[in-house]
Amino acid sequence: MATENEVGKALRSVLSRIEVSSTKRSTDLPNLIPRLVAVSKTKPVSMIQEAYQHSQRYFGENYVQELVEKSQNVEIESNCPDIKWHYIGHLQSNKVKKLLETRNLFMVETVDSEKLARELNKNWKEESKKLKVMIQINTSEEDSKSGVTNENCINLVEFVTKQCPNLEFAGLMTIGSFNHDLSQGPNPDFQKLLKCRAEVCEKLSIPIDSVELSMGMSGDFEHAIEVGSTNVRVGSTIFGARTYSNVKPKSDEKSSKDEGVDKKMADKKVSDT
Ligand SMILES: *Cc1c(COP(=O)(O)O)cnc(C)c1O
Repeated sequence: MATENEVGKALRSVLSRIEVSSTKRSTDLPNLIPRLVAVSKTKPVSMIQEAYQHSQRYFGENYVQELVEKSQNVEIESNCPDIKWHYIGHLQSNKVKKLLETRNLFMVETVDSEKLARELNKNWKEESKKLKVMIQINTSEEDSKSGVTNENCINLVEFVTKQCPNLEFAGLMTIGSFNHDLSQGPNPDFQKLLKCRAEVCEKLSIPIDSVELSMGMSGDFEHAIEVGSTNVRVGSTIFGARTYSNVKPKSDEKSSKDEGVDKKMADKKVSDT
């Protein structure tokens, strides 16, 4: 379990692993430097500040209430003025207004329906900049995960680019299956996301370099980068294993899909050690 002082060290180690993985990338992939999103869900504000002091700027959260509270925390506001928040959890349309109370919201990675895109577009009030969004794809087609199917992805990207002037289409995101054994070859979920990007770019005439891929977490971020990830979401390797005893999800979020996914990740972590 990482203590506060260990956050900086863990962060440096993850950053150097990212750098090494980037050099192993096939040269036919867009040469985008991967962004590290430090996933701080369930972790205290003190750890976020610690990571910020070590130059980390992008942080990810997947509970709306927790993100809004952390983003408005007085210490975060005064000590982390340039923080950039990514929302990475399952989002219900009726939570959009709440989510948009987040201070310094930078990107919503989990748009998976026209309804949600429409709500975000309608409620985003900052005129000086658009809200960056990614489309989440359920590449592993598991019921426990949210996201559109590969087939619906193109339609949703088209909807965002043509009907949502306040949103900026930033890329595609997947969680993917957790138990892929790399000795069996590349993770097929990541390959599906790449294929999907190729199709989207071709059908909608979007340059491939402008479409990011968010894939890779603590267990597989190096592989994800080698095969083309431009945005990795790393939590426990930086902040230590999560314990859920002290987390009280709001009752209306209890049944949400992301929690199930997250519990599964937590279970996996436990069984891995
Ligand atoms: C929690 C979470 C992560 C980070 O998981 P780790 O295995 O702790 O790195 C990444 N992506 C999503 C969507 C998450 O919910």
